Amino acid sequence: MKPVLLLIAMVLGLAGPAAAESAKTVKPRWAIVIHGGAGVIERDSMDAATEAAYREAMAAALAEGQRVLETGGSALDAVEATIKLMEDNPLFNAGRGAVFTAEGRNELDSSIMNGATLKAGAVAGATRTRHPISLARAVMEKSPHVMLTGAGADAFALTSGLEQVDPAFFFTERRWSGLEKELNARKLPIPTRPINAPSPGSNISAGPLIDDHKFGTVGVVALDSNGDIAAGTSTGGTTAKRWGRVGDSPIIGAGTYADNKSCAVSATGTGEYFIRLTVARTICARVQYKGETLQGAADAVIQQQLTALGGDGGIIALTADGQLAWSFNTPGMYRARAAEGQAPVISIYKDEP
Ligand code: ASP
Repeated sequence: MKPVLLLIAMVLGLAGPAAAESAKTVKPRWAIVIHGGAGVIERDSMDAATEAAYREAMAAALAEGQRVLETGGSALDAVEATIKLMEDNPLFNAGRGAVFTAEGRNELDSSIMNGATLKAGAVAGATRTRHPISLARAVMEKSPHVMLTGAGADAFALTSGLEQVDPAFFFTERRWSGLEKELNARKLPIPTRPINAPSPGSNISAGPLIDDHKFGTVGVVALDSNGDIAAGTSTGGTTAKRWGRVGDSPIIGAGTYADNKSCAVSATGTGEYFIRLTVARTICARVQYKGETLQGAADAVIQQQLTALGGDGGIIALTADGQLAWSFNTPGMYRARAAEGQAPVISIYKDEP
């Protein structure tokens, strides 16, 4: 409603304070929300340098997404560019810095979805593409399929023109010690170090160690100046995964979903629960068919359904009309958001905004 009409309507008693309030809320031209994994991330177990490193990494990723969106880039471009940066940062369990399988390999899962077209692409168990999110996008744009796995995904990657690397590129000492610890706890044999892995102690990209288990999956949702939304997620999965295990991250509707008509979601947490609850799509369906607010839908699925099932983790989300949300049932989640006209927020612990 135009301000002058609103004023007349208010004088005539046709529009109350709520209408005045919504007239004030301007939809941002662009917005972005990112996560870097959820879990038992607590102040007591975090030293100042490690915390600063994570906040810096989140800020750099947010700034990259913001740059793309402010210069008129698409939501899809912002999702890909931001995740690529996080995949290159060994702090996160995605791309370089991914966790290892029980056999001592890095098997990378990723997915991306375009909310304007409902097109989607995903890879599971990719081992040679530097940026798995770009491979997921290539599946979406250059193949007739939605999801490719294992050796097939690697073979398709060779035709995609994307940068291919030796699997040892993804190796970090930090994740290798995490694997050893997990295998010892589960009384499973320790595999030999990957061929071409740096010798013990020489890997300078190790980064600080908070936890060795499953934190650090990355995800981004974005809204662009065209009014389109997109979502993407990238991960190494869970430490010491076996038997070709695939989590929720590359599964459209579980770890990732985007539809301009409802919302865009990226999830992180114990993937098995997110698959069983089709978390990302369920949140969007509640928004679309029940008319719930984004935050209401996210909380219903994460705080109630996921918690009741015994799952742990969280999500980030946004809508085409500019609602931004996150929800998690763990002590922390690396998360950040920015939108046109709003101050950026970077948070880790539960008690932060
Ligand atoms: N959801 C990921 C998986 O289950 C892991 C994570 O987000 O921490 O593979």
